[in-house]
Amino acid sequence: MRESENGPVMRAQLGDAAVTIVSDGSVAFPVDFFYAEAPAEERAALRAAFGQAPDTHRMAANVMVLDLDGRRILIDAGGGGKFQPSGGALPESLQAAGIAPESIDLVVFTHLHPDHLWGVTDADNAAPAFPEAGCIAPETELAFWRQDGLAERMPNEFAAWIARETRAHLDRIADRMHPVAPGDAIIDGLRYRPSPGHTPGHAAIVIVRGDETLVVTGDVLTDPVAAFARPDWPLGVDADAEQGAATRRELLESLAGARARIFANHLPGGGLGHVAKVDGGYRWVPADWAV
Ligand SMILES: [Zn+2]
Repeated sequence: MRESENGPVMRAQLGDAAVTIVSDGSVAFPVDFFYAEAPAEERAALRAAFGQAPDTHRMAANVMVLDLDGRRILIDAGGGGKFQPSGGALPESLQAAGIAPESIDLVVFTHLHPDHLWGVTDADNAAPAFPEAGCIAPETELAFWRQDGLAERMPNEFAAWIARETRAHLDRIADRMHPVAPGDAIIDGLRYRPSPGHTPGHAAIVIVRGDETLVVTGDVLTDPVAAFARPDWPLGVDADAEQGAATRRELLESLAGARARIFANHLPGGGLGHVAKVDGGYRWVPADWAV
């Protein structure tokens, strides 16, 4: 249900936990960068067939709020409008959904890219956006972005800027950030499932409530068409494109086999749905198809 421009995109129930999806706006990249190494003709034909723009790959930026056992958990923090101007709607979206920033107890990150981390401080970087919240990130991911000299080792100025600003954001919230290793529980009912490639320590989040499971897939699935029809295409936004493709195929196979409910940060319509396996390939099935 889409209530208003900035209102909740979708609400759902996971056992006794309430799921609210709100929007941080959108993120976009040139198709020639996003799919630089995909076969050009097939890429163009697939995008045209599904009504996707030929030159720009624009993605929804969904953020999930989970009310669980009296705690309010934010899954990723949006970009704070500091990465791309089309992002940064999270504060208004939360307000429209009746969710006060002070009511967030915990922010759990899938990875530490700008559109997921930079919204953890306000637009001026003067104050934390969620003043009462602790933060949790995958141990490997945190170690990667905290390396000294990382920006200097990046291959271009864009990547160096991201490394510098990400480190600065992590320094601002250092006293509230806690690494969690795969296999350790984040909190009761939430655990990381390593899914590297997009970033070195990217991790999906498996949420279990009673006999219901929801898997947050982060940025493994960033296109409702090609990520499912052509999971092997290398992505320009992945740090290790070969590993990213292997992770995508493995996760799709596992999610389709389990018929697991998923939340994908960048898929349209709120990003809730599941993965179907049809004729040996995969398809995105939005949640509202299933009712
Ligand atoms: Zn992202």
